[in-house]
Formats: sequence, structure tokens, C-alpha cells
Amino acid sequence: MGLADRFGRVATDLRVSLTDRCNLRCTYCMPEEGLDWLAKPELLTDDEIVRLVSVAVRLLGVHEIRFTGGEPLLRRGLVGIVGRTTELEPRPQVSLTTNGIGLARQAQALKDAGLDRVNVSLDTIRPDTFQQLTRRDRLQDVLAGLEAAQAVGLTPVKVNAVLMRGVNDDQAPELLEFCLEHDYELRFIEQMPLDAQHGWNRATMVTADEILDQLAEPFGLEPTDVATRGSAPAESFTVRGGPRTVGIIASVTRPFCGDCDRVRLTADGQVRDCLFARTESDLRTALRAGAGDEELADRWRRAMRGKLPGHGINDPSFLQPTRPMSAIGG
Ligand code: SF4
Repeated sequence: MGLADRFGRVATDLRVSLTDRCNLRCTYCMPEEGLDWLAKPELLTDDEIVRLVSVAVRLLGVHEIRFTGGEPLLRRGLVGIVGRTTELEPRPQVSLTTNGIGLARQAQALKDAGLDRVNVSLDTIRPDTFQQLTRRDRLQDVLAGLEAAQAVGLTPVKVNAVLMRGVNDDQAPELLEFCLEHDYELRFIEQMPLDAQHGWNRATMVTADEILDQLAEPFGLEPTDVATRGSAPAESFTVRGGPRTVGIIASVTRPFCGDCDRVRLTADGQVRDCLFARTESDLRTALRAGAGDEELADRWRRAMRGKLPGHGINDPSFLQPTRPMSAIGG
């Protein structure tokens, strides 16, 4: 039996955070000084991660694995973890969400290990705006990472972009033009209340409507057939008659929780049934206490029974989760 919740949704897409550490300091994610990182003993080992992923794939019907962070390229055993995951039967689709720094160096080894594709976070192609948003001067590394991913065939290469009012909110057209030129699939993501500083403010969030206002006419955007969307977070639009598309992930203003097929595993072995979950279910303790695969699978199934119908961001009672995005991953 799979990871079903009380609303008939079944999670088949597992997001695995491999670390809470990151080498960027994006203003909408964490403070300049960084955060108190998880201590090593708390972190799942490579073997423990592969064991839990294996339970999910073999016993719980998960067929998509997304490795994420913090920044997963910082995880020393990443290539090995990917390789052992792609050897699982039935073989899951395996992708990676990364900020792209170091991807140019690791792309070939990840491809050889069986990685299928990558999502790279890139909010601007201007060095000064990149520095302002990430507090680091690493734009060229990210661009090199994108090119390397494309060159080795980690495709489609998807680009995730967050627009911030007064910073890069007027740069949507040039970002789309850049991605069209390089054959990257661009998706804009509405900023979500998941920052470590708890400073999210709806007024500074750039909405899907505003993004469409900027792009619809100059790029001749047309919505693609909603029937093809399924559980995909992104609303998709054809560009200038297609086949190229651009996506918008409007978690706040156009939530898509009704079709959610995602579940998350944190780097310290906790199951999060939703990105905005305020409670977690511990698998690490049972794992380290010698629990068998079936027992771990049962615990995981039970964890999903508590999943709420949606994130509740638009409810007056909404409370931001204590665990920040940097320790959950995209
Ligand atoms: S907010 Fe939670 S329920 Fe909604 S789509 Fe995201 S993970 Fe699924």
C-alpha cells in the first residue's frame, strides 16, 4: 500500500534533503550569517538515506526522487547516493534541485551515476542583482553549471526563479529571453513564507498575475491544456505559439494542494507530509533502533494520514513552520 492521505491523494514524488547547509545567502531564505546547521550525528548517513529511499521506492510506490538541500552539491556522497538510487528496482526518476554552484565540476559524474535532470535556481542574469539577492558574487559559476548540465544531457534543464519586489521584479522578460536562447525551461515561483527570518510579507511577494502581466503580450503566452498538468506544481504557458513553454508555480495565490503527490524527507530523517507541515514524523530513531523495512514503511504510511488538505497560507490562522526552507528543500 502507498502513501495515501485522508483526502485520497497518494504521494509518489519524494523530495530528499541531503543537507541544510548552503553556500549562498539568499535574502528571501536566510540571514547573512547563515544558520545553526544540523550537527553531524543528527544527519542521516549515506547508507541511511539510501535505505529510506529504497523503502519508499520498493514498498511505498514512490517513483520520483528529487534530491535537494540546502545545497545538495555540498553533500560529499551525492554521486554515490544518486548511483545507488538509480540502481533500485523499479528504477525511479531521479532529479536534483541545486543553486548550480559546483555543478560544472560534478555534472558528468552525476550523469554517469544515472541522474536524469536538474532544476537550477537562478533569479537574475545581472551580476549586481545576483550579488544583492544572494550576497555572493557567483553568477558565472551558476551559468557555467547550467551549460554543463545541458552539455552532458541532464535535460530538460529547468530554471527556478523567484522575483522580489524592488529587486528583480522587472527582470522577468530578460530571464525568459535568456532561457529561450539556451533551451532551458523557466518557471517563476511565488515567494513562500518559509524563510528562516520569518520576514515574508504578502505585499512584497510578486504574484503570478503580475508576472503574467509582464510576459503575456510580449511573449504571446497561451495557457497549455490544464488536463496535461496533473499534479505538476507549475501552470504552463506556450511562448509565441509553442512548443517552448514557461511555467509559474503560484503556491500562494493559486494553490494546487488538491492534486499534491509530494512528500519530504529531511536531512535528519523526519517525514514532512507537506512543505508547510507544522509537525514531522521521526524515522531516524526507529531506523537506528533496528526497525525493519516493513516497520519503517508502516510508520511512513501513518505519517501521511495526518496530512492537511492544503498549506493554509491564505487562512488567518496560518502559522509559518519552524523549520526553514533551507532545511526542507524545493
Ligand atoms: S503546500 Fe503542501 S499540500 Fe500544498 S502542494 Fe505543497 S506540499 Fe502539497
